[in-house]
Amino acid sequence: MRHVPVLELHDVRKTYPGEPPVESVRGVDLSIEAGDMLAIRGASGSGKSTLLNLMATLDRPTTGSIVVDGLAVERLSDRELAGVRAHRIGVVFQQFFLLESLDAVDNVANGLLYRGVPAAARRAAAREALERVGLGHRLRHRVTKLSGGERQRVAVARALVGRPAIVFADEPTGNLDSTASAEIMTLLTELNTAGTTMVIITHEQAVADACRRRFLMSDGRLIT
Ligand code: ADP
Ligand code: MG
Repeated sequence: MRHVPVLELHDVRKTYPGEPPVESVRGVDLSIEAGDMLAIRGASGSGKSTLLNLMATLDRPTTGSIVVDGLAVERLSDRELAGVRAHRIGVVFQQFFLLESLDAVDNVANGLLYRGVPAAARRAAAREALERVGLGHRLRHRVTKLSGGERQRVAVARALVGRPAIVFADEPTGNLDSTASAEIMTLLTELNTAGTTMVIITHEQAVADACRRRFLMSDGRLIT
């Protein structure tokens, strides 16, 4: 079998302008293959979220090259990049970022809004994704009626619903108690075993231990 990288970074750097400028990411090289599960740890301010935003194409590097599923980000227009994001990438954040006025199904269905899928098909896919994360019994619950762990499951379902090539999670257990945190990690590990490529940013040793490849971010650099 040919090993095609899902994501490649070549000497990626991100500098924020200012006096003095902040070099948040200082030359990262990384290759991620289909089925990988990576953990990136590091102190607060070390550049983890900046790197994740670059990998997830939410932001562009100052210099360097990022190749997603064979597509070089620097060659894509903003519109094309939005297409890459919508079709190939899923992201889970510490703060969940769910719409509280909506139920679980509609929050997850929103993950397909930018893909031109008709509403009924979006909801059907959302129900299936919610079943996958163990929330088949909470489909019509509003987000405000769900626990923190359940909310994060909804966010994971939203990241998965478009069957992306890779899923990024920035401190996915950061707002959860230890029980819910362990459950989310079990879920992410199961999803990886079932084939989802995953990059997880975390402060927690137990979370990192669940991942096959482990890195430390220090002062904008990635260390094995
Ligand atoms: P981490 O996620 O590891 O805590 P971040 O990537 O959030 O680290 O931040 C790394 C550094 O970049 C910090 O010094 C932070 O202040 C700076 N930084 C992050 N985002 C911005 C921004 N939008 N503008 C200016 N500086 C930023
Ligand atoms: Mg961060």
